[in-house]
Amino acid sequence: MKHHGKENELAEKDREISSLKLQLEEVRKLAAINERLLLASIREQERLLNELSKRSELIMKKGLEIRELQAFNDIIAAASKHLYIKDILENSLKVIIGSLESLEKAVGRKVKTTGGIFLVDEDAGELVHYTSFGISADDLGCKGRIPVGECICGMVAQTGEVDIIPYCKASLHQESMQPVCMEEDHAHVSIPLKSGNKVLGLIYLYFVPPGYLQLASDATIFTSIGNYLGLRIEKARLYEKVQELAILDGLTGLYNYREFHNRLEHEFKRAKRYKKTLPLLMIDIDHFKRFNDTYGHMAGDEVLRTIGRLIKNLVRNVDIPARYGGEEFAVILPETSPEQAEVVAERLRSSVSSHPFSIEDRTVSLTISLGLASFPEDADTKEGLVKAADRALYCAKSGGRNRTYRFNRGKRPCRKVTRVKQE
Ligand code: GH3
Ligand code: MG
Ligand code: MG
Repeated sequence: MKHHGKENELAEKDREISSLKLQLEEVRKLAAINERLLLASIREQERLLNELSKRSELIMKKGLEIRELQAFNDIIAAASKHLYIKDILENSLKVIIGSLESLEKAVGRKVKTTGGIFLVDEDAGELVHYTSFGISADDLGCKGRIPVGECICGMVAQTGEVDIIPYCKASLHQESMQPVCMEEDHAHVSIPLKSGNKVLGLIYLYFVPPGYLQLASDATIFTSIGNYLGLRIEKARLYEKVQELAILDGLTGLYNYREFHNRLEHEFKRAKRYKKTLPLLMIDIDHFKRFNDTYGHMAGDEVLRTIGRLIKNLVRNVDIPARYGGEEFAVILPETSPEQAEVVAERLRSSVSSHPFSIEDRTVSLTISLGLASFPEDADTKEGLVKAADRALYCAKSGGRNRTYRFNRGKRPCRKVTRVKQE
């Protein structure tokens, strides 16, 4: 009976063990399922994370593209405010560089952005350095001129296509070309400035360190900027030409009568305010009617051109030479003493009288008479100054021509200038 009880106990234990084994098997299966589920969930999470980061990158890039579009608007606004090429290009360049630098900052990169503008000199077939920001033409190692077709910039001038080089050093075609590039690696962007198919110039941009953040919209936006600025250059050139025609005399290229009076008014006010002297010279060709009658009007025109050139070459850049009328000229001499003005007058007189004017196959001599008056000693108003210089010129004519007379308020109306000393 006792033995029987033991057997039952063992059988009971066996059943328990089998049941435990079954349970263990179940647990193992569950654990495997659990592990599979866990792995799947990790993979899913990774996939989702990946997708998320891709999307956020996309959103960031879209955000940058929108900022780039905003920058484009700023550039258009900066350029459209101005009429002259210099203002248009200098302001646009600053805005372009500032915008690109802030785009790089937006992605956490600290990039030093510099750049400049070349304009095409069609006759020379070269790019000529026009302006720059943060970099100079000397830094480029090209002495301010690059033949079209050479170096990156010259190539872009030839192809008319935007060129973006994220790593300059790695770019093979660059290596033999620009020494500066080898000193400091940088990213290089070139934007041609075009009017239709014609390249008028280009903007170059340098980014240090290299690795330019390239956006899908770059090429399109840079092309639009280049086309817009190209059109603005063309328009500004026309505008400047019209402006020039309005103030210059067509025959001699000196200031015309109207501009002479504008400048005289301006200089007179300045002289009065800052208590400076302001001499004025009136010049008239001697016996010019006789010359015209002898050699013809065309030869007379040539003489006017030559005398205009002689006057322009003999005065300083700050002086204001003008064609006052038919065969009369005037020169305003700001910041000059009457004594210095006498020297200038005599220099002009002797240079004309010694100039061999060629008429067909011979040379002819001509002379001029000059009248000099100066503010404040000879006149109180600009009209008075013109009158006084005119009066002195009249004295020079009646005194025998080919001479300079200086107005002399209060005493004898004029006196002959005999200075021959050079400045
Ligand atoms: P004076 O020494 O007294 O100044 O004698 P002048 O003959 O120079 O003076 P006048 O005023 O009698 O003649 C000026 C001449 O200048 C008349 C005109 O034939 C000539 N003239 C004026 N404007 C022009 C021009 O645009 N072209 C040419 N060729 N001649 C001009
Ligand atoms: Mg005259
Ligand atoms: Mg004359």
